[in-house]
Amino acid sequence: MEFSFTEEQKQLRRSVREFAEGEIAPHVMEWDEASHFPVEILPKLGEMGLLGVIFPEEYGGAGLGYIEYALAIEELSRVDGSIGLIVAAHNSLCSNHIYKFGTEAQKKKYLVPLASGKAIGAWSLTEPEAGSDAGGTRTTAKRNGKHWVLNGSKTFTTNGHHANTCVAMAVTDKSKNSHGISAFILEKGMKGFKAGKKENKLGMRASETSEVIFSDCSVPEENLLGPEGEGFTGSLKILDGGRISIAALGLGMAQGALEAATKYAKQRKQFGQAISEFQAAWLADKKDVRFTRESSMAKLFASEVAVKVANECVQIHGGYGFIKDYPAEKYYRDVKLCTIGEGTSEIQRLVIARTLLGKK
Ligand SMILES: Cc1cc2nc3c(=O)[nH]c(=O)nc-3n(C[C@H](O)[C@H](O)[C@H](O)COP(=O)(O)OP(=O)(O)OC[C@H]3O[C@@H](n4cnc5c(N)ncnc54)[C@H](O)[C@@H]3O)c2cc1C
Repeated sequence: MEFSFTEEQKQLRRSVREFAEGEIAPHVMEWDEASHFPVEILPKLGEMGLLGVIFPEEYGGAGLGYIEYALAIEELSRVDGSIGLIVAAHNSLCSNHIYKFGTEAQKKKYLVPLASGKAIGAWSLTEPEAGSDAGGTRTTAKRNGKHWVLNGSKTFTTNGHHANTCVAMAVTDKSKNSHGISAFILEKGMKGFKAGKKENKLGMRASETSEVIFSDCSVPEENLLGPEGEGFTGSLKILDGGRISIAALGLGMAQGALEAATKYAKQRKQFGQAISEFQAAWLADKKDVRFTRESSMAKLFASEVAVKVANECVQIHGGYGFIKDYPAEKYYRDVKLCTIGEGTSEIQRLVIARTLLGKK
Protein backbone atom coordinates (compact mmCIF):
# COMPACT_ATOMS: atom_id res chain seq x y z
CA MET A 1 0.00 0.00 0.00
CA GLU A 2 1.26 3.48 -0.88
CA PHE A 3 1.09 6.01 1.99
CA SER A 4 3.35 8.79 0.70
CA PHE A 5 1.78 11.91 -0.80
CA THR A 6 1.85 12.50 -4.55
CA GLU A 7 3.38 15.71 -5.92
CA GLU A 8 -0.15 17.04 -6.54
CA GLN A 9 -1.15 16.36 -2.94
CA LYS A 10 2.01 18.08 -1.65
CA GLN A 11 1.23 21.06 -3.87
CA LEU A 12 -2.35 21.19 -2.57
CA ARG A 13 -1.03 21.19 1.01
CA ARG A 14 1.38 24.03 0.19
CA SER A 15 -1.27 26.17 -1.47
CA VAL A 16 -3.85 25.68 1.32
CA ARG A 17 -1.15 26.41 3.92
CA GLU A 18 -0.12 29.57 2.07
CA PHE A 19 -3.74 30.71 1.84
CA ALA A 20 -4.44 29.91 5.52
CA GLU A 21 -1.32 31.69 6.75
CA GLY A 22 -1.77 34.69 4.45
CA GLU A 23 -5.52 35.28 4.50
CA ILE A 24 -6.90 33.57 7.60
CA ALA A 25 -4.15 33.85 10.25
CA PRO A 26 -4.21 37.69 10.46
CA HIS A 27 -7.93 37.62 11.40
CA VAL A 28 -8.38 34.60 13.68
CA MET A 29 -8.60 36.40 17.02
CA GLU A 30 -10.80 39.18 15.65
CA TRP A 31 -13.23 36.64 14.12
CA ASP A 32 -13.17 34.54 17.30
CA GLU A 33 -13.87 37.48 19.62
CA ALA A 34 -16.67 38.82 17.43
CA SER A 35 -18.06 35.34 16.55
CA HIS A 36 -17.80 36.60 12.98
CA PHE A 37 -18.73 34.13 10.22
CA PRO A 38 -16.04 34.95 7.63
CA VAL A 39 -18.15 35.40 4.49
CA GLU A 40 -15.28 37.34 2.93
CA ILE A 41 -13.11 34.24 2.47
CA LEU A 42 -15.80 31.98 1.01
CA PRO A 43 -15.27 33.09 -2.62
CA LYS A 44 -11.54 32.30 -2.32
CA LEU A 45 -12.26 28.90 -0.73
CA GLY A 46 -14.59 28.27 -3.68
CA GLU A 47 -12.00 29.35 -6.25
CA MET A 48 -9.47 26.97 -4.71
CA GLY A 49 -11.95 24.12 -5.06
CA LEU A 50 -12.15 23.65 -1.28
CA LEU A 51 -15.95 23.86 -1.20
CA GLY A 52 -16.27 20.88 -3.52
CA VAL A 53 -13.12 18.86 -2.93
CA ILE A 54 -14.66 15.37 -3.10
CA PHE A 55 -17.15 15.87 -5.94
CA PRO A 56 -16.64 15.17 -9.65
CA GLU A 57 -15.95 18.11 -11.94
CA GLU A 58 -19.25 17.54 -13.78
CA TYR A 59 -20.99 18.65 -10.56
CA GLY A 60 -18.76 21.68 -10.07
CA GLY A 61 -16.32 19.91 -7.75
CA ALA A 62 -12.54 19.58 -7.75
CA GLY A 63 -12.72 15.86 -8.57
CA LEU A 64 -10.37 14.87 -5.75
CA GLY A 65 -10.59 12.24 -3.00
CA TYR A 66 -10.74 12.00 0.77
CA ILE A 67 -6.95 12.23 1.13
CA GLU A 68 -6.94 15.65 -0.52
CA TYR A 69 -10.03 16.61 1.45
CA ALA A 70 -8.41 15.62 4.77
CA LEU A 71 -5.22 17.49 3.80
CA ALA A 72 -7.21 20.65 3.09
CA ILE A 73 -9.21 20.46 6.35
CA GLU A 74 -6.00 19.78 8.28
CA GLU A 75 -4.21 22.80 6.82
CA LEU A 76 -7.17 25.16 7.36
CA SER A 77 -7.63 23.92 10.94
CA ARG A 78 -3.91 24.26 11.71
CA VAL A 79 -4.59 28.00 11.49
CA ASP A 80 -8.30 28.17 12.48
CA GLY A 81 -10.49 25.24 13.49
CA SER A 82 -13.62 27.29 12.75
CA ILE A 83 -12.79 27.48 9.05
CA GLY A 84 -12.10 23.73 9.00
CA LEU A 85 -15.52 23.15 10.57
CA ILE A 86 -17.36 25.44 8.11
CA VAL A 87 -15.74 23.64 5.16
CA ALA A 88 -16.30 20.18 6.68
CA ALA A 89 -20.04 20.65 7.36
CA HIS A 90 -20.49 22.11 3.87
CA ASN A 91 -18.59 19.35 2.02
CA SER A 92 -18.97 16.05 3.79
CA LEU A 93 -22.38 16.56 5.41
CA CYS A 94 -24.69 18.73 3.28
CA SER A 95 -23.16 18.43 -0.20
CA ASN A 96 -22.19 14.78 0.20
CA HIS A 97 -25.73 13.82 1.27
CA ILE A 98 -27.02 15.30 -2.00
CA TYR A 99 -24.20 13.67 -3.99
CA LYS A 100 -24.73 10.22 -2.47
CA PHE A 101 -28.53 10.13 -2.39
CA GLY A 102 -29.76 12.86 -4.76
CA THR A 103 -31.43 12.46 -8.16
CA GLU A 104 -29.67 13.85 -11.21
CA ALA A 105 -32.00 16.86 -11.13
CA GLN A 106 -31.25 17.51 -7.42
CA LYS A 107 -27.50 17.29 -8.08
CA LYS A 108 -27.73 19.79 -10.95
CA LYS A 109 -29.92 22.19 -8.99
CA TYR A 110 -28.22 22.02 -5.57
CA LEU A 111 -24.87 20.22 -5.70
CA VAL A 112 -23.40 22.24 -8.59
CA PRO A 113 -23.71 25.64 -6.81
CA LEU A 114 -22.54 24.09 -3.52
CA ALA A 115 -19.51 22.31 -4.96
CA SER A 116 -18.45 25.28 -7.07
CA GLY A 117 -18.58 27.59 -4.04
CA LYS A 118 -21.56 29.68 -5.15
CA ALA A 119 -23.70 28.43 -2.27
CA ILE A 120 -23.10 27.32 1.31
CA GLY A 121 -24.58 24.17 2.80
CA ALA A 122 -25.80 23.03 6.22
CA TRP A 123 -26.94 19.66 7.54
CA SER A 124 -29.53 19.33 10.30
CA LEU A 125 -29.88 16.08 12.17
CA THR A 126 -29.53 17.03 15.86
CA GLU A 127 -32.56 18.20 17.83
CA PRO A 128 -32.91 19.40 21.43
CA GLU A 129 -34.16 15.93 22.48
CA ALA A 130 -32.24 13.93 19.86
CA GLY A 131 -28.46 14.29 20.09
CA SER A 132 -26.49 11.03 20.43
CA ASP A 133 -29.90 9.35 20.10
CA ALA A 134 -30.52 10.96 16.69
CA GLY A 135 -33.07 8.26 15.88
CA GLY A 136 -35.29 10.06 18.42
CA THR A 137 -35.93 12.84 15.86
CA ARG A 138 -39.22 14.66 16.52
CA THR A 139 -39.46 17.07 13.56
CA THR A 140 -42.30 15.81 11.39
CA ALA A 141 -42.97 15.86 7.64
CA LYS A 142 -46.55 15.16 6.54
CA ARG A 143 -47.60 14.66 2.97
CA ASN A 144 -50.02 17.24 1.55
CA GLY A 145 -50.65 16.63 -2.17
CA LYS A 146 -47.41 17.33 -4.03
CA HIS A 147 -45.73 18.78 -0.95
CA TRP A 148 -44.38 17.74 2.41
CA VAL A 149 -45.17 20.00 5.36
CA LEU A 150 -42.39 20.15 7.96
CA ASN A 151 -42.85 21.17 11.59
CA GLY A 152 -40.30 21.15 14.39
CA SER A 153 -36.83 22.46 15.10
CA LYS A 154 -33.19 21.46 14.91
CA THR A 155 -30.34 22.58 17.10
CA PHE A 156 -26.57 22.96 16.65
CA THR A 157 -26.66 23.30 12.86
CA THR A 158 -23.25 24.42 11.55
CA ASN A 159 -23.56 27.19 8.89
CA GLY A 160 -27.25 27.46 9.90
CA HIS A 161 -27.68 31.19 9.26
CA HIS A 162 -25.62 31.58 6.09
CA ALA A 163 -26.60 28.35 4.33
CA ASN A 164 -28.41 28.64 1.01
CA THR A 165 -29.17 24.92 1.11
CA CYS A 166 -29.91 22.74 4.11
CA VAL A 167 -30.41 18.98 4.27
CA ALA A 168 -32.70 18.15 7.21
CA MET A 169 -34.09 14.94 8.64
CA ALA A 170 -37.77 14.60 9.64
CA VAL A 171 -40.13 11.80 10.69
CA THR A 172 -42.40 10.71 7.85
CA ASP A 173 -43.73 7.52 9.51
CA LYS A 174 -43.46 7.33 13.31
CA SER A 175 -44.48 3.64 13.38
CA LYS A 176 -41.28 2.65 11.53
CA ASN A 177 -38.91 4.24 14.09
CA SER A 178 -35.49 4.93 12.52
CA HIS A 179 -36.76 3.61 9.16
CA GLY A 180 -39.50 6.24 9.25
CA ILE A 181 -37.13 9.25 9.07
CA SER A 182 -36.58 10.94 5.68
CA ALA A 183 -34.15 13.53 4.37
CA PHE A 184 -35.29 16.76 2.69
CA ILE A 185 -33.51 19.53 0.80
CA LEU A 186 -34.49 23.00 1.98
CA GLU A 187 -33.68 26.33 0.37
CA LYS A 188 -33.08 29.61 2.13
CA GLY A 189 -36.22 31.73 1.76
CA MET A 190 -38.68 28.80 1.68
CA LYS A 191 -41.81 29.86 3.57
CA GLY A 192 -41.83 28.52 7.12
CA PHE A 193 -38.10 27.74 7.11
CA LYS A 194 -35.70 29.93 9.07
CA ALA A 195 -32.58 29.89 11.21
CA GLY A 196 -33.21 30.58 14.91
CA LYS A 197 -30.90 31.38 17.81
CA LYS A 198 -27.20 31.57 17.01
CA GLU A 199 -25.29 29.87 19.85
CA ASN A 200 -22.68 31.76 21.88
CA LYS A 201 -19.97 29.10 22.01
CA LEU A 202 -16.87 28.16 24.01
CA GLY A 203 -14.81 27.64 20.89
CA MET A 204 -15.08 27.41 17.10
CA ARG A 205 -16.61 30.86 17.44
CA ALA A 206 -16.13 31.96 13.82
CA SER A 207 -18.17 28.95 12.74
CA GLU A 208 -21.83 29.68 13.35
CA THR A 209 -23.98 27.10 15.10
CA SER A 210 -27.70 27.72 15.22
CA GLU A 211 -31.23 26.48 15.56
CA VAL A 212 -33.19 25.76 12.40
CA ILE A 213 -36.97 26.12 12.66
CA PHE A 214 -39.74 24.65 10.49
CA SER A 215 -43.24 26.15 10.91
CA ASP A 216 -45.68 24.61 8.43
CA CYS A 217 -42.80 24.67 5.98
CA SER A 218 -44.04 23.44 2.61
CA VAL A 219 -41.39 21.51 0.68
CA PRO A 220 -42.05 20.30 -2.91
CA GLU A 221 -42.13 16.49 -3.16
CA GLU A 222 -39.15 16.53 -5.53
CA ASN A 223 -37.07 17.78 -2.58
CA LEU A 224 -37.34 14.45 -0.75
CA LEU A 225 -33.71 13.29 -0.72
CA GLY A 226 -33.21 9.55 -1.17
CA PRO A 227 -35.91 6.94 -0.54
CA GLU A 228 -38.73 7.82 1.87
CA GLY A 229 -37.91 6.44 5.33
CA GLU A 230 -34.18 6.06 4.65
CA GLY A 231 -33.00 9.52 5.77
CA PHE A 232 -31.65 8.31 9.10
CA THR A 233 -29.82 5.25 7.73
CA GLY A 234 -28.47 7.55 5.01
CA SER A 235 -27.31 10.01 7.67
CA LEU A 236 -25.26 7.30 9.39
CA LYS A 237 -23.45 6.65 6.10
CA ILE A 238 -22.88 10.38 5.64
CA LEU A 239 -21.42 10.59 9.17
CA ASP A 240 -18.88 7.87 8.23
CA GLY A 241 -17.34 10.34 5.77
CA GLY A 242 -17.93 13.35 8.03
CA ARG A 243 -15.95 11.81 10.88
CA ILE A 244 -12.86 11.61 8.68
CA SER A 245 -13.01 15.38 8.35
CA ILE A 246 -13.41 15.80 12.13
CA ALA A 247 -10.31 13.61 12.58
CA ALA A 248 -8.45 15.89 10.14
CA LEU A 249 -9.79 18.92 12.00
CA GLY A 250 -8.34 17.56 15.27
CA LEU A 251 -5.05 16.69 13.64
CA GLY A 252 -4.71 20.17 12.12
CA MET A 253 -5.45 21.92 15.42
CA ALA A 254 -3.03 19.62 17.28
CA GLN A 255 -0.36 20.45 14.71
CA GLY A 256 -1.02 24.19 15.12
CA ALA A 257 -0.92 23.93 18.93
CA LEU A 258 2.31 21.89 18.85
CA GLU A 259 4.00 24.44 16.59
CA ALA A 260 2.84 27.34 18.79
CA ALA A 261 4.06 25.62 21.98
CA THR A 262 7.41 24.65 20.45
CA LYS A 263 8.04 28.17 19.16
CA TYR A 264 7.17 29.71 22.53
CA ALA A 265 9.23 27.20 24.54
CA LYS A 266 12.30 28.08 22.47
CA GLN A 267 11.80 31.85 22.93
CA ARG A 268 10.68 32.11 26.54
CA LYS A 269 13.53 32.39 29.04
CA GLN A 270 13.28 31.64 32.77
CA PHE A 271 16.11 31.01 35.24
CA GLY A 272 18.47 32.29 32.55
CA GLN A 273 17.63 29.86 29.78
CA ALA A 274 14.93 28.85 27.32
CA ILE A 275 12.18 26.85 29.07
CA SER A 276 12.57 24.14 26.37
CA GLU A 277 15.97 23.38 27.94
CA PHE A 278 14.68 22.48 31.40
CA GLN A 279 14.93 18.93 32.75
CA ALA A 280 13.93 17.76 36.23
CA ALA A 281 17.37 16.31 37.03
CA TRP A 282 19.11 19.45 35.74
CA LEU A 283 16.94 21.64 37.94
CA ALA A 284 17.37 19.29 40.93
CA ASP A 285 21.14 19.62 40.54
CA LYS A 286 21.24 23.36 39.97
CA LYS A 287 18.44 25.08 41.84
CA ASP A 288 17.40 25.74 45.40
CA VAL A 289 13.74 26.77 45.50
CA ARG A 290 12.16 26.89 48.93
CA PHE A 291 8.80 25.12 48.56
CA THR A 292 7.53 22.41 50.85
CA ARG A 293 6.91 19.08 49.16
CA GLU A 294 3.38 18.83 50.58
CA SER A 295 2.16 22.18 49.27
CA SER A 296 3.53 21.46 45.79
CA MET A 297 1.94 18.01 45.79
CA ALA A 298 -1.41 19.38 46.98
CA LYS A 299 -1.38 22.13 44.36
CA LEU A 300 -0.29 19.85 41.51
CA PHE A 301 -2.78 17.12 42.32
CA ALA A 302 -5.77 19.34 43.04
CA SER A 303 -5.29 21.60 39.99
CA GLU A 304 -4.76 18.70 37.54
CA VAL A 305 -7.80 16.88 38.92
CA ALA A 306 -9.85 20.08 38.65
CA VAL A 307 -8.97 20.39 34.94
CA LYS A 308 -9.97 16.76 34.32
CA VAL A 309 -13.23 17.21 36.21
CA ALA A 310 -14.08 20.39 34.26
CA ASN A 311 -13.28 18.55 31.02
CA GLU A 312 -15.61 15.70 32.02
CA CYS A 313 -18.20 18.28 33.04
CA VAL A 314 -18.24 19.70 29.46
CA GLN A 315 -18.29 16.14 28.04
CA ILE A 316 -21.26 15.15 30.21
CA HIS A 317 -23.18 18.19 28.92
CA GLY A 318 -22.53 17.10 25.30
CA GLY A 319 -23.13 19.99 22.86
CA TYR A 320 -24.63 22.09 25.67
CA GLY A 321 -21.27 22.01 27.42
CA PHE A 322 -19.91 23.92 24.42
CA ILE A 323 -22.29 26.86 24.73
CA LYS A 324 -22.71 29.58 27.32
CA ASP A 325 -26.19 28.68 28.57
CA TYR A 326 -24.58 26.32 31.11
CA PRO A 327 -21.69 26.91 33.56
CA ALA A 328 -19.64 23.96 32.21
CA GLU A 329 -17.72 25.92 29.58
CA LYS A 330 -16.78 28.65 32.09
CA TYR A 331 -15.41 26.18 34.63
CA TYR A 332 -13.46 24.61 31.77
CA ARG A 333 -11.91 27.95 30.78
CA ASP A 334 -11.31 29.29 34.28
CA VAL A 335 -9.91 26.16 35.91
CA LYS A 336 -6.90 26.09 33.60
CA LEU A 337 -5.40 28.97 35.55
CA CYS A 338 -4.91 26.57 38.51
CA THR A 339 -2.28 24.57 36.60
CA ILE A 340 -0.42 27.79 35.72
CA GLY A 341 -0.75 30.39 38.53
CA GLU A 342 1.68 30.29 41.50
CA GLY A 343 3.94 27.82 39.70
CA THR A 344 2.98 25.73 36.68
CA SER A 345 2.42 21.98 36.99
CA GLU A 346 5.84 21.40 35.41
CA ILE A 347 7.42 23.58 38.07
CA GLN A 348 5.57 21.68 40.84
CA ARG A 349 6.98 18.42 39.40
CA LEU A 350 10.47 19.85 39.47
CA VAL A 351 9.99 20.91 43.08
CA ILE A 352 8.61 17.52 44.11
CA ALA A 353 11.39 15.67 42.22
CA ARG A 354 14.03 17.72 43.96
CA THR A 355 12.66 17.05 47.44
CA LEU A 356 12.28 13.33 46.66
CA LEU A 357 15.87 13.19 45.41
CA GLY A 358 17.02 14.91 48.59
CA LYS A 359 18.43 17.84 46.58
CA LYS A 360 18.43 21.36 47.94
C1 LIG B 1 -20.09 23.30 17.55
C2 LIG B 1 -21.07 22.21 17.20
C3 LIG B 1 -21.39 21.99 15.86
C4 LIG B 1 -22.34 21.00 15.53
N1 LIG B 1 -22.73 20.86 14.21
C5 LIG B 1 -23.77 20.04 13.91
C6 LIG B 1 -24.33 20.01 12.58
O1 LIG B 1 -23.87 20.70 11.67
N2 LIG B 1 -25.41 19.22 12.34
C7 LIG B 1 -25.97 18.45 13.33
O2 LIG B 1 -26.94 17.75 13.04
N3 LIG B 1 -25.45 18.43 14.59
C8 LIG B 1 -24.38 19.22 14.91
N4 LIG B 1 -23.88 19.25 16.20
C9 LIG B 1 -24.51 18.42 17.23
C10 LIG B 1 -23.61 17.29 17.76
O3 LIG B 1 -23.50 16.28 16.80
C11 LIG B 1 -24.24 16.84 19.09
O4 LIG B 1 -24.01 17.87 20.04
C12 LIG B 1 -23.68 15.52 19.57
O5 LIG B 1 -24.13 14.47 18.74
C13 LIG B 1 -24.09 15.21 21.02
O6 LIG B 1 -25.47 15.37 21.22
P1 LIG B 1 -26.00 16.24 22.50
O7 LIG B 1 -25.30 17.54 22.46
O8 LIG B 1 -27.49 16.28 22.47
O9 LIG B 1 -25.50 15.45 23.76
P2 LIG B 1 -26.18 14.17 24.44
O10 LIG B 1 -26.50 13.13 23.41
O11 LIG B 1 -27.30 14.64 25.32
O12 LIG B 1 -24.97 13.63 25.33
C14 LIG B 1 -24.70 14.13 26.66
C15 LIG B 1 -23.66 13.18 27.30
O13 LIG B 1 -24.26 11.85 27.42
C16 LIG B 1 -23.41 10.88 26.83
N5 LIG B 1 -24.19 9.80 26.24
C17 LIG B 1 -25.31 9.90 25.46
N6 LIG B 1 -25.71 8.67 25.07
C18 LIG B 1 -24.82 7.78 25.60
C19 LIG B 1 -24.67 6.35 25.53
N7 LIG B 1 -25.51 5.60 24.82
N8 LIG B 1 -23.63 5.79 26.19
C20 LIG B 1 -22.75 6.55 26.92
N9 LIG B 1 -22.84 7.89 27.01
C21 LIG B 1 -23.85 8.49 26.35
C22 LIG B 1 -22.64 11.66 25.74
O14 LIG B 1 -21.43 11.00 25.34
C23 LIG B 1 -22.40 13.01 26.45
O15 LIG B 1 -21.28 12.89 27.30
C24 LIG B 1 -22.92 20.20 16.55
C25 LIG B 1 -22.56 20.41 17.90
C26 LIG B 1 -21.66 21.42 18.22
C27 LIG B 1 -21.33 21.65 19.68
